[in-house]
Amino acid sequence: MLKNLSQKYILSIDQGTTGSRAILFDSKGREKGRGYEEVLQFYPKPGWVEHDPKQILQSVEKAIRIALTESKINPNQIAAIGITNQRESTVLWNPKSGVAAHRVIVWQDRRTASICEELKKRGLESVIHKKTGLVLDPYFSGTKIAWLLKHHVKINKEARDGKLLFGTIDTWILWNMTGEHVTDHTNASRTLLFNIQTLKWDSELLKIFGVSQSMLPRVQDSASIYGKTKNWPGLPDGIPITALCGDQQAALYGQGCYTRGQMKNTYGTGCFLVINTGSKKVISESGLLTTLACDEMGRPAYALEGSVFIAGALIQWLRDSMKWIRSAEESEKIARSVPDNHGVTVIPAFVGLGAPYWDSGARGAILGLTRGVTPAHIIRAALESIAYQTADLVEVVKREFKFPIRALKVDGGACRNNLLMQFQADILGVDVLRSGIPESTAWGVAKLAGVSARIWKTPRDLDHQTKYQRFCPGISIKTRSELFKQWQQQVKRILTNGD
Ligand code: ADP
Repeated sequence: MLKNLSQKYILSIDQGTTGSRAILFDSKGREKGRGYEEVLQFYPKPGWVEHDPKQILQSVEKAIRIALTESKINPNQIAAIGITNQRESTVLWNPKSGVAAHRVIVWQDRRTASICEELKKRGLESVIHKKTGLVLDPYFSGTKIAWLLKHHVKINKEARDGKLLFGTIDTWILWNMTGEHVTDHTNASRTLLFNIQTLKWDSELLKIFGVSQSMLPRVQDSASIYGKTKNWPGLPDGIPITALCGDQQAALYGQGCYTRGQMKNTYGTGCFLVINTGSKKVISESGLLTTLACDEMGRPAYALEGSVFIAGALIQWLRDSMKWIRSAEESEKIARSVPDNHGVTVIPAFVGLGAPYWDSGARGAILGLTRGVTPAHIIRAALESIAYQTADLVEVVKREFKFPIRALKVDGGACRNNLLMQFQADILGVDVLRSGIPESTAWGVAKLAGVSARIWKTPRDLDHQTKYQRFCPGISIKTRSELFKQWQQQVKRILTNGD
């Protein structure tokens, strides 16, 4: 028990939509143990998604306990804690009682669509876009708070009396761990209330959404001191929380994308593409989001973000609905059993298409069917569609950011598929680098926490250890441009908002 007591550890908490993960890293950045606990999902009405704020805390507590037990680490040796989180999800609570005023309204929740419409009718979209870099969509926290204030008399009164605090999930966990009411720039930039130019809560935006300044947390750099543990079950008092960061920005940092032009894509259920644009705030005309990420030392840097709605979910559909594959991994083997897609294009517009098409009415299609087509061709085309959708986003980034892109770093479950990664490199014409660290998100916030606690001078010392597998483009520029043109032509055929 006494050995290694001088060793220091970093606890990384990754509170995600489906579950909470805790990972312990040692001072060399090696993983020493992990725990995971699911988060309960509530769907009270169509389009509504809620979490129980208390259960979120319990899941974090449990995940930490499992990680500590697994690693046999004495909690007194934890030198710093970093928290990364599902972004935008909204909670209000009474600081006197510590009780939340309602369930968490999760980022996926669509109940505030009519509030967004109303604000658009009032002509407020462009000022909101200019100040926040976001689009008016139920996704973000601002309309979620406005909805709670509008629909719950008690919440409204308590808020007016200054008896409620607002937080995204980072802040909710932090407040419960330390008693401090603080957030970081990356999370603040997803609320619709934060001005990404002045780096302050914006009084005009607060007025638009009917939110009072007194409800809002203080905003700090992602890598900074947020407070110390106090009365958190399973941990001693006094451990500093030294980093907070939204999940996608944490993954960007985890991938070592600290400077302008560095970009990562996460291939999960959907894809999240984020590119660091440094000190340059690019406001997109094509529906990409402008957001705050981190520079090397965890200070704010600008980023552009785009998402593909259906990526790995398409592979799940092939498995669960079509039953053409037994597992997601098998998609690669079957796709490789044919030399090409036999002229098939799959467009997985199950829930419409995002940037650059923005067509919510479009629906999915399998095009180019002939007698010779087999499920293997369709599976191959399905994998290709994930790469094409990513390439669509990268094209927008290239057009609007006007900065040479040298490589794409990748992570997430579906990046294990070698055929998909090779095709991604082919169709982008840049190298695709697959990280050897599967948990870029948890690793990202651990690095931020270690930098801010001065365990590491710079995260770059640790990045040298990360092994990347490189996929280089293997087709000619001419073939690439023909293939991409064909894809875009096929997409045009299913659009409902085109000519
Ligand atoms: P999320 O965090 O969104 O739940 P994950 O990063 O865990 O997603 O990735 C899971 C997704 O990746 C699933 O949608 C699954 O279909 C897909 N996936 C996993 N492995 C593969 C693979 N080898 N080939 C293609 N898709 C895969």
